[in-house]
Formats: sequence, C-alpha cells, structure tokens
Amino acid sequence: MMKRRLIWLFVVTVAVGGCEQLSPEMQLIHDAATALGGVEAVEQVATLRIEGSGNNFRLGQNPTPSAPLPRAAVESYIVEADLRNHRMRWEIASANFAGRVNTAVTAMDADVAFNVGQGGARRANARVARERHAEFYQHPLTLLQSALAETEEGMAGTMVGNLRQESGDDVVDVTTADGSELTVHFDAESRQVVRIASLAYNSNLGDVETATTFRDYADAGGLLLPGAITKTIDGQPVSFLRVSHTVGADIGDLAAPADVASAPEPDPPAANVADEELADGVWLLAGQSHHSVLVELPESAVLVEAPQHDTRTLAAIARARELVPDKPLSHVVNTHHHFDHSGGIRAAVAEGLTVITHETNRALFEELASRPHTLVADHLARQPAELMLETVAGDDTLELGEGRTTMQIFRMGDNPHADGALVVYLPTERMLIQADMFIPGVGGEFAETAAALLQAIEDRNLRVDQLVPIHGAVLPLSALEEAVEAGN
Ligand SMILES: [Zn+2]
Repeated sequence: MMKRRLIWLFVVTVAVGGCEQLSPEMQLIHDAATALGGVEAVEQVATLRIEGSGNNFRLGQNPTPSAPLPRAAVESYIVEADLRNHRMRWEIASANFAGRVNTAVTAMDADVAFNVGQGGARRANARVARERHAEFYQHPLTLLQSALAETEEGMAGTMVGNLRQESGDDVVDVTTADGSELTVHFDAESRQVVRIASLAYNSNLGDVETATTFRDYADAGGLLLPGAITKTIDGQPVSFLRVSHTVGADIGDLAAPADVASAPEPDPPAANVADEELADGVWLLAGQSHHSVLVELPESAVLVEAPQHDTRTLAAIARARELVPDKPLSHVVNTHHHFDHSGGIRAAVAEGLTVITHETNRALFEELASRPHTLVADHLARQPAELMLETVAGDDTLELGEGRTTMQIFRMGDNPHADGALVVYLPTERMLIQADMFIPGVGGEFAETAAALLQAIEDRNLRVDQLVPIHGAVLPLSALEEAVEAGN
C-alpha cells in the first residue's frame, strides 16, 4: 500500500505542475478525454443514461465445454449513472433459460450494492459491491473522469501508471480512489478508450478477467461515446449490446434507501440439506434448488452431483457422511458440466472424492481443478488435493457396486442441453437419477430433452418406476410419458 501511495504522490506532483509536465500516462488520459470531446466536457458530465439491447451469452451453459455459449436476448438494457456520487443502476430485461423475459434491477451507491426485487431493495455483500464498482468504471466517461478529477484535486487519488503497448494499443493501469484496479486500452491513433478490464471472482473459474470493449464511437450530446459494447468473462463473450447515450439525463435519485444503506452486510446464504430416504440405501439430499443423491454400495457410498458452490456441496457431503458413517464416501458423479451442476466439484476434490463425468468434460474438469482462486480462497485453495477423475467414454456404461446393489452410469444420448449428460440407473430400486433432462412444464429445449430421456429408457430397456431429479420432485415414469405425449 505504502509503495502505491508514494507512486501516486509522484503522479499528482507531476500532474498539478502544468500541462507540459504531465506524465506520459496522464498525457494519455488527457488525449483520450480530448478524443471524447475535451477534458472540460468530460469533467462536467454529472449524469448519464445508456439504453440499448442485444444478447447475453450464458457462461457455463453450453452444450459441450467448447461449444459457443447459448444466446439469451436482452430486450432492454438501461444503465443510469450519477458520476458525482458514484452511483449506478442497471435495469436489464433478458430472456431466462426457459425463454421467459425477466427484469433484474441492481444498483450501487458508493460502497453499498443492492438488488431491487418484488420485496423491495436488499443489500448485497462487499464482493458484489467491489465488482459493481469495477463495472461502474468500465466505461470511458466514468474512467476518464475519475482519472482526471481525482488526480488533479490531489485528494485521495486515482493512480495511473505502467504505460505500455499491447497488441497495437497503448495500455495503462488505473487504480481508483475507492480501490478498483483497471487495465485500460487506448487506440494508438484515435486515443479512444477501446477496452477496460478488471479482475473478478467466479466460483467455478476462480480468478477471472472481466472486460468491456467499446466500438462505433458516435456523437452523443456533444461527446463521442461508444455505440457498441461487448463484455467478456475470462475471454468468453457474455454480452453484446448496441447502445445510445444521454449525457446529463434526468435520472432521479440513485441513492440507496436509508434502511438498505444502514443494513449490515448480509451473511452468505446457508445450505439447507433436507434428506429423504427413497429406498433402502438411497437418499435424496434436497432442501434447495439443486439436490444431490446418495447411494450406499456394499463397500462405499457415492454422491450423485456436487452442485452450485462450496457451501451447498460441503453440506451435502457432510450429510452423506452422517447417513453412511461406516463406509467411505468414495465418488461423486457429475451429471453434466453446466456451472450450476459442477460448481461443487472443487469442494469434492478437496474432500478426496473421485470425480466421475463424461469424457467430453475431461479437459474442463482438469482446468477447473487447477485454476487459481486467489481473490476468494475456496475450499480446494485452502485444502489442496489432486483431482482424481474417472470418465465415461462414449456410450459405455460404468458400473459401481456388485450383486443386487449396483449403480449404472451412462451418457443419456443426444439432446440439445448437454451432450455429455450422464444419468444414473439403479436397477434394483428401478430408479433413474437425472438432471435437467426432464423439467416438467418448462417447454422449449426441455421438451426435446424429455423425449430423449424417454427414448434412452426404451433403447436400453431400463425398468424405471421413479425419476429422481437434481431439481424438483421425484416423479413416476408416467409423468415423463405423459409430458412427451403432450409435447412438453
Ligand atoms: Zn444444465
């Protein structure tokens, strides 16, 4: 910290001395402001509204780990910014996984991040607040205004340094007064800001770069501002938007409601594992949106699914060990690679479980197990362990257990949701454990997955009485037959 402060003092001293003495970094900031319409014009912007539409791309939800991310239309994208008070509000109407349009309203008021839902505004935690700050600064106006104003005033300052060239752009690092660290790219000729990036934490991927790139600068109330914005996470495009800007827009009061601003930072949500014995030695570990299933075999116990994140998966593992205390919990079966279903794999690795997944996912899982998690040290970062991985090849069947107590694990078959999706068949119990293959009433691609699931049961001559899901309730096979018959 001390070192940074000293560097900053140097930058300020040079910057306040007059235009000729600007550091090369601050000269670049000034040039970029001039390219937008002038240093003074940039400094004077108090409010901003950005409106647009485009597409989101759902990270970790592709049909295979290397396939393009599925697209979800963004019908309306409205961002309002109060630059004087460091406040921002995002109102984004986009299609969810089932194609229904939901509007999410999120906001930031200096150190307080909050989400606005039907029950009113609720405070979000400090990590969310930090990441919204970084997003606040991922815009040419907020970034340049911060770099210009705070340095020149000589108050708790923004630091601009480390000028370099990368892929033809001029690049500097910017640390804002409130601690956001950004890497900013400027076009070498136009001096326009073309990219702003920062580090963020993703519970699946660990430390990731989130970046916004800016194109198609056009006149907006006397300033030149970008008309196209692309957002990436870890290099993968997650959002493309065509936007227009209103500088000086009437945005009303973006302050956090008093009760939200004074609310304590919320505790992370706890896991609630509600177990239900479905058959002798088979338990559904339900309670929230993503379940696991515990199967007791002659020599060991096996967990099907390590979903969501450390909190959920560690609670499921702990409950599993309580339910079968005298045998080792040896394996976890991953149904498919989607991030909500694989988010607890690292926790399972740290707990010494061997991971079973389809061979399609091998490279991804090797990567997930080895990526750095320094911004948030997750369970595996704190308790390192080797990944032990067993994959199911092609349409092979992997069988665990013996005699009448076995589980058969195989790829379900072609379906639009996840190519390597595994299902688990318990022949004695006549149960089939599946995730996302039969979600009644959702329609869309889930009508196709339901038909594919029924086809797989018929093709393999499985005797199934009950479908045991990772989401929702246990259902009789007849529910699947009726849904497929009805086409949904
Ligand atoms: Zn899925």
